[in-house]
Amino acid sequence: MSAPDGKPWPSFTQAVCKTGLAASSRRMMVHRVESLRCYIRDGRAEFWAEWVCGGSTNRAVILTEADVEPLGGICSRCETAGWFMYRCRDNNGLLLYIGSSGNLYLRFKNHARNTPWWPDVADIEKVPYPSEAEARAAERHAILAESPLHNKQPAGRARSAA
Ligand SMILES: [Zn+2]
Repeated sequence: MSAPDGKPWPSFTQAVCKTGLAASSRRMMVHRVESLRCYIRDGRAEFWAEWVCGGSTNRAVILTEADVEPLGGICSRCETAGWFMYRCRDNNGLLLYIGSSGNLYLRFKNHARNTPWWPDVADIEKVPYPSEAEARAAERHAILAESPLHNKQPAGRARSAA
């Protein structure tokens, strides 16, 4: 695919975009673009961008990474999109919980509503993985090796101090 004038499109994985709507808010919302389509309307090229965090816009403005910082950084949902293993520690460094998720933004919102010990969490370490299978495998191994306080232990490996 190339632009109407024959030049290649920008590198979409490096691109970020903002919407006219979000730019009017106090802190400009900048999203990472996951896919971008171009269509011609009234002889002008227009973009349809889908963001990593699941949103989309047909008012995409293409920015470079260098443009992002003055706008306040990228959207927190885009920032946490993708597969992660995460370790939760309290303010003494005690390992409370190890989990994995493909949507940390929603996962942490869910923890905040449903997890009784969530207020004890002082620090969350996030480790990215390229796939769900790799994130889940890393989570299983880490739980076995590190015995976090609030994870259920697999059968046969019951916590002696529980
Ligand atoms: Zn976003």
